[in-house]
Amino acid sequence: MSYAELLLEQVLNFARENMAKEVKEVEVEIGELLLLNQKQLEFCFSVIARDTIAESARLKILTSKAKRICAGCGMELNSDGVFCKCGGEVRIEGGKDFILRKIIIEV
Ligand SMILES: [Zn+2]
Repeated sequence: MSYAELLLEQVLNFARENMAKEVKEVEVEIGELLLLNQKQLEFCFSVIARDTIAESARLKILTSKAKRICAGCGMELNSDGVFCKCGGEVRIEGGKDFILRKIIIEV
């Protein structure tokens, strides 16, 4: 299942549970490491949402960044190196989320 389908399914489930007439806006957060193309997601979503109550929903996409944390000292690093100044190894955390943040519906 593609991300667009997954998203639409969640949106429609939520809309059904809340007896929505129309879905106005959908806010989704995607991790940068998922390497999802936002334009493509928007496009796919608009295609598969056709003839559903989410058809004219505005899709708002936020990107969440991965964190680079040193396993040695626990510092969060901004550089791209594999090792921290302290000699500790750098671990990547997060950046792979796909979270439905907000849905605005009309009931
Ligand atoms: Zn360190």
